[in-house]
Amino acid sequence: MSGIYLHIPFCKQACHYCDFHFSTSMGLKSRLMEALVAEMDLRADYLQPGATIETIYFGGGTPSLLSAAELDQLLAAINQRFAVASDAEITLEANPDDLTPAKVRELAASPINRLSIGLQSFHEPHLRLMNRAHTAQESGQAVRRAQEAGFENISVDLIYGVPAPDHGIWEADMAAAFALQVPHLSCYALTIEPDTVFGRQLRKGQFRPPPDEFVARHFEMLLAEMAHHGYEQYEISNFCRPGRESRHNSAYWAGVPYLGLGPSAHSFNGHSRHATLANNPRYVTAVLDEGTVPATVEALSPLDQANEYLMTSLRTARGCDLNRLRDQFGIDLPASRAAYLAQLQATGLATLAAGWLRLTNAGKLLADHITLELFQAA
Ligand code: SF4
Repeated sequence: MSGIYLHIPFCKQACHYCDFHFSTSMGLKSRLMEALVAEMDLRADYLQPGATIETIYFGGGTPSLLSAAELDQLLAAINQRFAVASDAEITLEANPDDLTPAKVRELAASPINRLSIGLQSFHEPHLRLMNRAHTAQESGQAVRRAQEAGFENISVDLIYGVPAPDHGIWEADMAAAFALQVPHLSCYALTIEPDTVFGRQLRKGQFRPPPDEFVARHFEMLLAEMAHHGYEQYEISNFCRPGRESRHNSAYWAGVPYLGLGPSAHSFNGHSRHATLANNPRYVTAVLDEGTVPATVEALSPLDQANEYLMTSLRTARGCDLNRLRDQFGIDLPASRAAYLAQLQATGLATLAAGWLRLTNAGKLLADHITLELFQAA
């Protein structure tokens, strides 16, 4: 069982919070399409021979900038080279402004069976503040259009913790999202990364992020509303109706191998991480003209793998299987960190039952900190 991720590194404009790899120039699009297919051949032996591809994910960037015909070409190339399961989950990240009636019809007729739509907000001033390319009206319209065209497996993205005088805008954003009746939502706190427009504005004193308590309150509101509307929180930022988890992302968190294609894409094969250079011209030249994939490869020691498992599993509702940590990686947390585990339970941040360590809602707010505390040193 494996997955394939394709990074489509183009966007119409730069969102002010975004530090993903993308270019707003589409000049290299056709060469990049060729390079993605060539990379499939160059890295044909990355995954286990004959491994079944259970999930394919077009991410970015903005993969909905590709036409349905271009997406079909990439899927055909994958099918020619890999054993794709007949019921594979095939996800396309899409921005609302790209989901025109004609485009949605074409996508509905393609093998793509899941849309992840980047709404982020229904509040027009917030969309403008974040420099999103779509309007609030287009947000809901895109989802309804996709549903009418037959897409049932839809996820929407929302961002909380955007500066506002009170919590009313976030409340209204959540209500508008629930009204769409989609089976999956991904909700992220606005984070200010240094190499973004917000990051630069912050350094110049032109952007004031809200206080931590404001963002924490949004998260609490989110958890309460999700539970009220029947969504399970299966990962810190991901919520779904029962049985509607993202198979692709769940496989990442379970440590399933995947091949990442395109500039800035990451891959994992069980022993090492492969990160392709985040540079469109250099990627295309290296792959097409030199027959190499410019990348860094990091071998993962058993300790690295244990820490990765701790980090990802504690973000999920299932939690961390302490027996697996002991049997697979030789780390006995209940013995080595007994005092800290007792403290987490006493302060209501985690539960420990039948060999599983799980964070509570209060603990999820401190997930990064708790994970760092539990990280094993060499
Ligand atoms: S559309 Fe997505 S990838 Fe592109 S700049 Fe905006 S957030 Fe980043």
